[in-house]
Amino acid sequence: GLAVMGQNLALNIAEEGIPISVFNRSANKVDDTVLRAEREGQLPLYGYKDVKDFVASIERPRAIIILVKAGAPVDDTIAALSQYLEEGDLIIDGGNEWYKNTERRGVELAAKGIEYMGMGVSGGEEGARNGPSMMPGGPIEAYERVKPILEKVAAQVDDGPCVTYIGPGGAGNYVKMIHNGIEYGDMQLISEAYDILRNVGGLSNEEMKKVFDDWNEGELQSFLIEISARIFSVKDELSGQGELVDYIVDKTGSKGTGKWTIQQAAELGIAAPTMAAALDNRYLSSLKDERIAASELLVGPEKSVFPAVDKPKLIDDVRKALYASKICSYAQGMNLIQKASDENGWNLDLGSIARIWKGGCIIRAVFLDRIKQAYDRNPKLASLLVDPAFAKELTERQAAWRSIVTLAVERGIAVPAFSASLAYFDTYRRARLPANLIQA
Ligand code: NDP
Repeated sequence: GLAVMGQNLALNIAEEGIPISVFNRSANKVDDTVLRAEREGQLPLYGYKDVKDFVASIERPRAIIILVKAGAPVDDTIAALSQYLEEGDLIIDGGNEWYKNTERRGVELAAKGIEYMGMGVSGGEEGARNGPSMMPGGPIEAYERVKPILEKVAAQVDDGPCVTYIGPGGAGNYVKMIHNGIEYGDMQLISEAYDILRNVGGLSNEEMKKVFDDWNEGELQSFLIEISARIFSVKDELSGQGELVDYIVDKTGSKGTGKWTIQQAAELGIAAPTMAAALDNRYLSSLKDERIAASELLVGPEKSVFPAVDKPKLIDDVRKALYASKICSYAQGMNLIQKASDENGWNLDLGSIARIWKGGCIIRAVFLDRIKQAYDRNPKLASLLVDPAFAKELTERQAAWRSIVTLAVERGIAVPAFSASLAYFDTYRRARLPANLIQA
């Protein structure tokens, strides 16, 4: 598959000096990829327009990466390939596939002597071309075969390449799914920070850029904060006035993995309120016409009654609230991975999963090194919230966190992920809850 991900990953592999054959259902993408390989440095990439010729061109035992749309297209592609494959060959699905589909295909192909892996790949176009974070799962012997290639093409961070063997079966797809759920949480939290700074603090886009740039120097340093800072200064070319961000429609869609994360949370009985708030907000945001109609009827608090805020304090408090909320969101994601690992007998290593997310992927952040350290200190950690370092950070930030949530509630600014995280913290930290009354 030579769409965004396949084309760029193939060029990345070729650039590492590893010869690669490529194929795509529609031939034009084969031509495009071959042309790019020539232009980007005469890379050893060879295009094929017939599946049989493509398979025949590969060194045996073969290793083939599929990067097509998840679901039925993967089954179609496997069917097309497998008529020419031989025992010992390996297929790796690099797409965002539902983990149970990977497990089913693994069993079906094992019966034919063909090995199968499901490998999450994160980093989008840029990551695939220059170094993604990769989450391979399936038979460990199959991983060992392709490990030298994957380690070369993955993003590189201070403590190694952003790839490691995740675990058996569909574990690689599962971990990628949770990565995407966490990404939803991060993006929602960042948008809430923006909403408060803009609608309570009155910050301009220029000021917003400066704040996000500053944040990107400290504990919040991450790819998502960095690109958020960048967007604030992009001018609107079409109207010639103001910045692009103000012209973008306030509607977000959602794709499989974010929704699956929340379905899994419900299925496994793991609370994931921050990520669930992110998904709910995507649904609500998409009701643009309904919201316009409702805004005529449902009136929020009168703005003029509120005193002006102390801007520098607001900015500092929002930063602390964002960081504390993020800890809760990641705690939920890691708990989901742990529970799935226990249920499926995957024996996943949470510290090394945090480590391979330090580079290449969309949620990459300095913060992930702190998560890795927490699991290094205690691999059996019940929750990130009770790691001594995170517990201290949460305690230090809670006054600011509470004041931001209070301020937002008072002023009618919805902060579903900030407040879900705070409620998660306030519930988890209490020895006694009102659940006694529910039981009674
Ligand atoms: P798309 O998900 O847009 O899929 C397009 C590719 O699928 C094309 O190569 C297309 O072939 C092929 N395809 C579709 N249906 C069939 C079929 N029935 N038989 C054979 N081939 C078919 O491509 P992306 O590169 O965006 O993503 C690939 C995978 O990676 C997906 O699972 C996606 O979720 C995942 N992913 C994507 C990311 C991104 O940023 N785009 C990031 C991380 C993961 P044709 O050209 O003939 O139509």
